[in-house]
Amino acid sequence: MSYTHLHPYGLRRGKGVPKEVLMKFFIRLSYRYDNHGNQYSHMDSVVYGPYEDDKTVEDALALLWPNDKEKQFLVFDGQILNVKPSSKEKPEEKKRTPGNMENYYKERDIWKCKDCNADILGTPVTHLIWIPGMIDNNRSSKNETDPYCPNCEKNLNSHGAPII
Ligand SMILES: [Zn+2]
Repeated sequence: MSYTHLHPYGLRRGKGVPKEVLMKFFIRLSYRYDNHGNQYSHMDSVVYGPYEDDKTVEDALALLWPNDKEKQFLVFDGQILNVKPSSKEKPEEKKRTPGNMENYYKERDIWKCKDCNADILGTPVTHLIWIPGMIDNNRSSKNETDPYCPNCEKNLNSHGAPII
């Protein structure tokens, strides 16, 4: 079963979640006892959410655990925050085209930007390799990483990760 259809703010990658709003989350609880007989709640490491309100949480619980009325959940409000944009980040129209390695330098194993010293991020991309003269099914693809500086260069894809 896919969880993504359970609530309006999907967990699907790249789908937007409202910024700086209070949302509902939940964790499944299970009770344990320590050596002295004290009960404690052992929580799953998975946090479900965000959900819009109590009703969407209840709907999700009913869908995910339809016959588990004994099960208990810790439901809580959580504020979703984005990291503030870096003060070094240039306005979009002043950003240059990414990928010129002459604008980067390597410090230990990390590529850095010569202008702002930020870690260079990599956008994973799949390039199609087409060999002239070959028929279609001889085409193949290779995965590469397109580097960019998050402050000085345009991000052509939002799933960046540091490149080493
Ligand atoms: Zn930079």
